[in-house]
Formats: sequence, C-alpha cells, structure tokens
Amino acid sequence: MIGFVLLAFAIGVLTWSLLEYLIHRFLGHHPKFLPNPFGAEHMRHHREGDYFAPTWKKVLVALGFTALLAWPLTSLVGVGPGVAYLAGLMLMYGTYEVLHRREHTHAGISAYGRWARRHHFAHHFSDSRCNHGVTSPLWDLVFGTYRAPGTVRVPAKFRMAWLVDPKTGTVRADVSDTFVLLPEPKESSAQTTVAA
Ligand SMILES: [Zn+2]
Ligand SMILES: [Zn+2]
Repeated sequence: MIGFVLLAFAIGVLTWSLLEYLIHRFLGHHPKFLPNPFGAEHMRHHREGDYFAPTWKKVLVALGFTALLAWPLTSLVGVGPGVAYLAGLMLMYGTYEVLHRREHTHAGISAYGRWARRHHFAHHFSDSRCNHGVTSPLWDLVFGTYRAPGTVRVPAKFRMAWLVDPKTGTVRADVSDTFVLLPEPKESSAQTTVAA
C-alpha cells in the first residue's frame, strides 16, 4: 500500500511538470487558444517582465481544482493514493510558482538555479516558442521545443535586478559568460535627454 501511495505522489509531481509545460505553451502562447484568462496574465508577464498574476487568483484556482478532483480521484484509487496524488501535484505546483518568481527576483545559488535562469530567460528574450518548462527541460525535450540557451541577450528595460552589479552597473561577473545586457535603445535615450 505504501508503495502505491508513493507512486501516486510521484505521478502527481510528474503530472504538474507536464501541465506546467502544456499550460504555458498552449494557453500562454498558442494563437489557437488565445485569448484566455491565463494567456492574458502571461502576456502581461512577458510585456512587463516583473509582473506576476496575483497570488490570491492562483490559490483560488489551485483550491478549485483540488476540490473538483478530490472526490472522483479518491473514489477511483482510494483515499491514500488519491490524496498522495493531489499532494504531489499541488506541492510541485507551489514549487514551480516559487522557483519562477525567484528566477526573476534573485540570482541562482546553485548549478540548477543558474541553469533554470538561462533556460527561462532564453524563453523570455531569445525565442518564446521554446523552453516552456520552468522547473525542468523534460517536456521541451520530449516535444521538440528545447533550445540550448547560449548567451541570453537581455533588453535593458527588462533587466532583472540580480543581473546587474550595483558597483559597476554592468552584468555581474559570475553570470557574464551567459548573460549580456543590451543597451537602452537610442530613441528612448534621446527622449530622456529632451525631457531632461
Ligand atoms: Zn517568467
Ligand atoms: Zn511565456
């Protein structure tokens, strides 16, 4: 029984990993499925860089899905495995939310953290048709949308706070081999000069 419960938990984790990819790729970016509420929030995330949909919306949707799935799932596979599956799904969902936000707000502190930032910002700034997975490259590899990040070129107006060394105003030395900060476009600097 405990083996079945652990298996259900692992399948829940894997289910979120797949949903993370599918929701992002299709609801977030595919013209066939746009507009939709997730897509609207996601487009704003891309447009503004530091925008995230309100947490209360995410909690509400997560609780709604959990409530919807709980009864059919526990009736089908039993209470233990059903609850374990939902726990794996929601734990991985929460992990994804935290990791995604931290990729934008904090520098990576491990090989995985540095990998995740390159992978995700290649999606933001190199090609939004690639690298839809945020916590892993698994489904991008499976579905052929993986792109090796190479050097990520970050437009000045979208620069993440952690990317820039406050002393020099340039890209931090420890990520300067993987990230390049593009200069402000001439037009806007001219406007700034006029306004000043
Ligand atoms: Zn993002
Ligand atoms: Zn996206």
